[in-house]
Amino acid sequence: MNANADAVKISDVVLRDGHQSLIATRMRTEDMLPICAKLDAIGFHSLEVWGGATFDACVRFLKEDPWERLQSLREALPNTPLQMLLRGQNLLGYRHYADDVVERFVARSADNGIDIFRVFDALNDLRNLETAMKAVKASGKHAQGTICYTVSPVHTLAMYVDQAKRLVDMGADSIAIKDMAGLLTPYATGELVAALVGAVDVPVHLHAHATSGLAALSQMKAVEAGCRYIDTCNSAFAGGTSHPSTEAMVAAFQGTPHDTGLDLVALKEIGDYFREVRKKYAAFESEYTREDVSVQIWQVPGGMMSNLANQMKEQNALGRIQDVFDEIPRVRADLGYPPLVTPTSQIVGTQAAMNVLTGERYKSITNEVKRYLLGGYGQPPAAVDEEIRRKAIGNEPVDEGRPADQLKPEMQRLAKEIGDLAENEEDVLTFAMFPDLGRDYLKNRRDGKLVPEAIPAPSSPSAGRPVAEGVPTEFVIDVHGESYEVQITGVGSGQGSKRRVYLTLDGMPEEVVFEAKDEFVKETKGGGGRASASEPGHVSTSMPGNIVEVLVAEGDSVKEGQAVLITEAMKMETEVQARVGGTVKAVHVAKGDRVTPGEVLIEIA
Ligand code: MN
Repeated sequence: MNANADAVKISDVVLRDGHQSLIATRMRTEDMLPICAKLDAIGFHSLEVWGGATFDACVRFLKEDPWERLQSLREALPNTPLQMLLRGQNLLGYRHYADDVVERFVARSADNGIDIFRVFDALNDLRNLETAMKAVKASGKHAQGTICYTVSPVHTLAMYVDQAKRLVDMGADSIAIKDMAGLLTPYATGELVAALVGAVDVPVHLHAHATSGLAALSQMKAVEAGCRYIDTCNSAFAGGTSHPSTEAMVAAFQGTPHDTGLDLVALKEIGDYFREVRKKYAAFESEYTREDVSVQIWQVPGGMMSNLANQMKEQNALGRIQDVFDEIPRVRADLGYPPLVTPTSQIVGTQAAMNVLTGERYKSITNEVKRYLLGGYGQPPAAVDEEIRRKAIGNEPVDEGRPADQLKPEMQRLAKEIGDLAENEEDVLTFAMFPDLGRDYLKNRRDGKLVPEAIPAPSSPSAGRPVAEGVPTEFVIDVHGESYEVQITGVGSGQGSKRRVYLTLDGMPEEVVFEAKDEFVKETKGGGGRASASEPGHVSTSMPGNIVEVLVAEGDSVKEGQAVLITEAMKMETEVQARVGGTVKAVHVAKGDRVTPGEVLIEIA
């Protein structure tokens, strides 16, 4: 290790953010362990190995126990501090957890091997970091407070400096600048780092994605301005939506006062190993992970762009994606300029898409936007548009407190719910992160039925041919008297009585044209065989999607504005309200039905 105070210290992210950014978080533990001895010998400041989306990917796709991955890495990397990324009160899940869950999660992560916890909140609402930061300190580990970097009229240098100071007051051992989107430019970085280094006594770290091609330059300006800690990724998984390459940054500072002292030849050997590993996961590569300067134009992060492109494709509206990119900054302004990172990127992106697709801004408002406007995610960085807030939530009171204050302790309840399927507290925490998925995982593990997803070979049809994107729907169909379980992806376009769909049969995607039966097309106007809405009492949707829940039954009386259906479109749920009061005369949908705009779903008279 280099004892020089001006030396740049490197955190390599190849085992976490590198593969999360480039191959959809799919690297398996079996591909990490063989190279750990060499990684451990380098002398990195730290290796980022856990957290972010890796926990989800382990349980959902790889059928690995994420806690066991951490234990194996800890054992294989005895000399290097291990680092994780934690979403504050959301931990590694997708909701706010009660404080006792946060405390136990941090304690178990520390016991299993994490040394450095990078803790952030999507809104930079520090109340959502408090409990996690305290828990890290209580475990005796390094608490790194994070600033999510974004660009807006309210995100000034003064605001970031104030945030850094408050993080230090909370006990932060260091401050990380997290530029998840690649928004930082070299000169903006220089100014920001100089301001932070001048304001706090703890080290400042820079985590900058290379999406727009500027991160290496930004890191150099950061170092010149007094930053001594940078995140880089082994060159085999560097560049594009990942990070500047470790080898390049090590070479850049060689022979200067900032020399990292790391061995380039040893780093190259590690790169040779990971280049081979990357080939195995070729099916998960995407054109959206390449360098793309658009984020400097629209402030839309790369990952969000690819998600939106997929969602617009599902809606048969890819041609209007530019309108969505133009709408995103307006929605963001309406919502008080949240930084765009999980989950705010999905919330803003989907609402912007709805505003474009329905032809009227906020005609349809997702439940997530409502929750956001009720204060469910914490305090937005700036004031939200009150008119839109009232349109979304009516006279419901806005909760200005810390969201987790509404939550009662839940560890005991969770332990009881999962029962014998949990062999230890780690299992309870896995279940806490993903209730359905976690339970399935633990059940299959008990029954010896864990099967990791197949890695499609790059030459196989499912990897090489364009297949409709989206979550498949499973059906059982009978063909010539034999039953087949099939998965259908894509909406299919209705041409008269014919429906074109994509079937996956025995892993082979096939485009199939269905000839619909007579009774199916009777009265058909929309795609689902329902009549066209023509009266105020005809409840319909403005977006194609699925029915999540039918909230009323025939004979119920409903008031004007009452929610009668919950639909799901673009992975977000939306309530559909009755436009008139009256009695429910007929319900034409059930949970799980696919619906298209303009169809009569419920009749009220
Ligand atoms: Mn990152």
